[in-house]
Amino acid sequence: MQDKNFSIQGFGSAAVHAGHEPDPRHAHLVPIYASSTFVYDTAEHGMERFSGAEPGYIYSRWGNPTFTEAEQKIAALETFGLGFEVKAILHASGMAAIATMLLGTLKPGDKILSHYSLYGGTNELMYQTLTGLNILPVIHDLRKLDGVEDLIKGDPAIKMLYLETPANPTIRCVDIEALTEIAKRHNLLVACDNTFASPYLQQPFKYGVDFVMHSTTKFLNGHGTAIGGVLLGRDVERMNSSITKAHRLLGGNANPFDAFLVINGMKTLELRMDRHCSNAAHVANFLKAHAKVAQVNYNGLEDHPDYAIAKKQMRQAGAMLSFELKGGLQGGIDFMNKLQMCVRTVSLGTCDTLLSHPASMTHYGVAKEQREKYGITDGLIRMNVGIENVQDILADLDQALA
Ligand code: PLP
Repeated sequence: MQDKNFSIQGFGSAAVHAGHEPDPRHAHLVPIYASSTFVYDTAEHGMERFSGAEPGYIYSRWGNPTFTEAEQKIAALETFGLGFEVKAILHASGMAAIATMLLGTLKPGDKILSHYSLYGGTNELMYQTLTGLNILPVIHDLRKLDGVEDLIKGDPAIKMLYLETPANPTIRCVDIEALTEIAKRHNLLVACDNTFASPYLQQPFKYGVDFVMHSTTKFLNGHGTAIGGVLLGRDVERMNSSITKAHRLLGGNANPFDAFLVINGMKTLELRMDRHCSNAAHVANFLKAHAKVAQVNYNGLEDHPDYAIAKKQMRQAGAMLSFELKGGLQGGIDFMNKLQMCVRTVSLGTCDTLLSHPASMTHYGVAKEQREKYGITDGLIRMNVGIENVQDILADLDQALA
């Protein structure tokens, strides 16, 4: 068997090789272990597995060799160059990973401190499901550090700081290091949704956070071929006990085919993110200079209010931007209808450029005054800048804006 004990210097090499275990049948890539259950040599062997005396697979809701490779690769990338290890658990979706984390750590009476502009599903989970269990959100503008410590000191029920940066859908950023420092002075757990950045652009564990979550549906898969999620935890003992318990009992396990897709997607993460980011910077500058565009929100533009925070904690500014058309609601609809190569759809993290118009799509049912509080105006367009040749993206935008 080929020696796998080599050292890796670069993130891109880790993305290709990390997490891989040589296959006993010499397959080059990890097989898709499409098996719900695993076999014991004897009854005693089964007993050893169930008692934990012998590590090994039992039932695929609990774990599966294809999941393991994906988990090891994501864990290696989230801690690349940091000098410590974390434990990852692959899930059926980003929401499943977030639910396991919240329900596996919090109890009735606890509160979660978070910020405006979170992914809609996370927001609903906090406001609807968790409030029913008497776990309440405390929402504050965490882009300003003033007052955060007093807020925590004034409410001992706050047990967790929950961050999402850059956040969906506004692409706003919060300072992971400064907020984690404050939270840790008061023994809060800190969780960070790293979906929009990916581990190539941002590593929240560097700043002492306890949990990192991803919707692997996005940049980690990279091709829009599967829904998936991952929960990573710094406290391996906690991950192996209460978090594993919550994951197994809530049943949000991944499936082997989707795990295989995410493993292969991650191999090109560095290449894709470099191209996404350089294309996004071109697109942002093009839109900024366009007469029909009132405003461009991209963290990589120096006049963006979160430029300094993004620069501090992200390698590059990412693939996501939004822009506001001068033509309002109808302007947004007309623009979307004229797109040719770029795709009219929600989601993000794919090779293709995707555009959505929140006022007529994702936020259609949200009252105008309410969505405007979150910066979602009638003419706002959200864009996942893909990895096509940038002149083709610019040409399509140009003709759609004409
Ligand atoms: N977190 C963020 C930032 C997201 O954008 C999404 C989905 O868009 C999720 C979590 C949920 O992920 P999934 O759709 O894989 O459940």
